[in-house]
Amino acid sequence: MVFPSFHPQKCHFLLLFLLVLLFSGHAGLLAQDQASEEMVWTEDNMPRRGTTVEPVEFEDLSSLSVSALRKQLAKLIPDLQIEGRRTLFEQLKEWRPDWFEHWEDEELFPDSTRSDTMPQTLRFVVLEDGEQLVYPWHGEELTWGYGPRNGHLHKGWDTHLEVGDTVVSLMNGVVRYAKFNHSGYGNCVMVRHFNGLETLYGHLDRIDVQQGDVLAAGEPLGLGGSTGKSSGPHLHFEVRYGGYALDPALIMEWSAEGPKSKTRILEIDKSQLSTEKGGESTSQAQSVGSKTHRVRSGETLSSIARKYKTTIPKLKKLNRLKNVDYIRLGQRLRVK
Ligand SMILES: [Zn+2]
Repeated sequence: MVFPSFHPQKCHFLLLFLLVLLFSGHAGLLAQDQASEEMVWTEDNMPRRGTTVEPVEFEDLSSLSVSALRKQLAKLIPDLQIEGRRTLFEQLKEWRPDWFEHWEDEELFPDSTRSDTMPQTLRFVVLEDGEQLVYPWHGEELTWGYGPRNGHLHKGWDTHLEVGDTVVSLMNGVVRYAKFNHSGYGNCVMVRHFNGLETLYGHLDRIDVQQGDVLAAGEPLGLGGSTGKSSGPHLHFEVRYGGYALDPALIMEWSAEGPKSKTRILEIDKSQLSTEKGGESTSQAQSVGSKTHRVRSGETLSSIARKYKTTIPKLKKLNRLKNVDYIRLGQRLRVK
């Protein structure tokens, strides 16, 4: 048998080579681990809108027609970072004050808008060229459509989701309302779109936007859940004008692959709007007997819990007091 010649020097090279391989591989793994650790968003490191400094100046778009401005915004918004969007919001209020009438952040359906002052025929340019429609959550099916349910008008669409599924904005627009709603919607976001319509996203587990956030169609606004008056995780979605609901099917068709835009221009008689503004379950929520308590001097969460035969965790959950242990004098708490 012939053995290959064996040189000690070559062996050293081989060892060195192996060592280098081993180390570089290890170092590579370490770097990857660190990178992936940094990429995990937690409550602490999650980027918050409005926290970065990124000065942006916009050219004056106030002379553009509504149609041209919307086309411009469709191109502009997706590329803007947090600070740019804040600036854009301020600019838009100057350029198009008509887009921000009845701009309330406390009321979902401001009292100040009235259907009797609206024209008989309402006309909306639902989508401009370059704008798109992205259904907020792709459920397998529509659990409930718009229409009568249990003697009430169900004022939107329901689709099943899992708690924590991302919910996105249907169209380009600006967040008008983003908070816990006590009339049944739970964590709720309302977005005002540039076509005059507003969309509502109810029962969210978490809200990730605040009033004034400019969103492009398909951008996240929160996570789906089952907060408020909800029997299980689902998205309750509404289309509104001036606070009055209209059937989402007027502007889009439901399909398993996502919504299909039904019409670019929507013309409806104002009788097609819901006759009253309230939530889908206003009267139900009342009959279910949600109860509130105004905090008096000397009271604590535990004394209130005792008074209403409930527990502190239940009170905290009802009132979204996640990391808060104190209550304010005069604060209205839900106790049931
Ligand atoms: Zn619903």
